[in-house]
Amino acid sequence: MRVLLVEDDRMIGEAVQQVLREAAYAADWVRDGVLALSALEAQSYDLVLLDLGLPRKDGFEVLRQIRSHDNPVPVLIVTARDAVEERIRGLDLGADDYVLKPFEMGELLARMRAVLRRKGGQASPVMSNGSITLDPTTREASFDDSTVLLSAREFALLQALMVRPGAILSRQELEDRIYGWNEEVESNAVEFLIHSLRKKLGSRVIKNVRGVGWLVSKAG
Ligand code: CA
Repeated sequence: MRVLLVEDDRMIGEAVQQVLREAAYAADWVRDGVLALSALEAQSYDLVLLDLGLPRKDGFEVLRQIRSHDNPVPVLIVTARDAVEERIRGLDLGADDYVLKPFEMGELLARMRAVLRRKGGQASPVMSNGSITLDPTTREASFDDSTVLLSAREFALLQALMVRPGAILSRQELEDRIYGWNEEVESNAVEFLIHSLRKKLGSRVIKNVRGVGWLVSKAG
C-alpha cells in the first residue's frame, strides 16, 4: 500500500514516515499543499494522511481539490484535539476519518487499517482469498496448513496481490506498492520477495505469467 503523508512539521513528518515504512507502507512525504497535489497527480495512492495547517495551500483546499477531481482515495485528516469545527469541515469536505494531534502511532496505524478495510469493502480485519489469509495487524500469512510471519516487504507484496485477486501486477506496479521515494530498489527485488514468499508459504501461493507479472488466483 502506498501512502502520501502531507505534514509540514519536520519532526512529526520524519517520525510518521519512519513508522509507516516499518509498518510495510510505501510512504512518500511532502511538506506543503502544492506538492501534495502534484504528488497525487503523478502517482496513485491507497491513502492520504493530511495535516490541515500547511504552507502554500492548506489541507482543506487540498482535500477540496482531491474530491473535485472525483479522486476517491481515502483521506485521513490530522487535526488539533480542540478543533471540533475543523473536524466537521474536513469530514464534510470528503475526509474519511481523522486523527487528533498529538496522536499515538498505534492508533494512527489502526485507523489507517480501518479506513483501508472499509475502502476495500472488507468487514473482517483479516484479508482472505480461498485458502490464503493475511492479517495486517500481525503481518501473519497462512496458505493451506502453514502460518508464517512475513517481513514488512514480503507483506507489502502479498497484500498488493491480495487486494486484487486474479489481477496480474507487473514488476513496476508491485515496486510502486512496496517502495516510496528515495528508497533504493534492487533490480531483482521483486523476484527475491516472491521467492521468499513461496519458500515460506509454498510455491503455489503466487503465480507467474511469464513476461507480464504475478498474481494470486481469485478463489471460487
Ligand atoms: Ca501543520
